[in-house]
Amino acid sequence: MGRLIQNIGFLGRPVRTGEVERILHGSVVHGIDLEQPLLGRTESLFAVVSQAERDSREMQLPFETIAEGIEALFAYDGAYWNGNSIVRLEYLAGLPCPWGDFSTTTPLFPFDMQVREILLVHRERGFDLSSLQERYPTVKDLRKGYPGLVADDEIMVFSELHPHLLREHHFPEGKSTPYCVDFARAKKYLGI
Ligand SMILES: [Zn+2]
Repeated sequence: MGRLIQNIGFLGRPVRTGEVERILHGSVVHGIDLEQPLLGRTESLFAVVSQAERDSREMQLPFETIAEGIEALFAYDGAYWNGNSIVRLEYLAGLPCPWGDFSTTTPLFPFDMQVREILLVHRERGFDLSSLQERYPTVKDLRKGYPGLVADDEIMVFSELHPHLLREHHFPEGKSTPYCVDFARAKKYLGI
């Protein structure tokens, strides 16, 4: 109930089911600009969720387990996770859930600088942190590099919204975005 009230306060209105896919394909989610949509233009929400549910069954990896793993990563303040280096990125605004039922910020305080994104840098394939910083001197450079770094399996990107998306919507984000929580990669990087 608290969550529903928060949602209505934040978004002004609940999101209808038919609207969700349109929002996921867009580059603006509830007023927040994204560099790329959560779902590629040629990807279907139904197909992505069905595939994730198959992966979950076949790998015997419940959505809840990945969600808890990501939450534990965000709650941790050390330098390494499962042997992988941690890079924490702080932003002013958090992304509200495209379904309109959850936000990590409240309507009264929508802007709050905090860690909203964490990269795990692959312990064997990845750069060490200093070479990553040399190659991508600004956060903007680094984020532009996400697609290539993910394609080369050098990093995995986790967002503070992921636990909710996985738990409540079985949505790991589309394959076309570097934010996609691929089950095999999540298992390897998080050590779950
Ligand atoms: Zn949601």
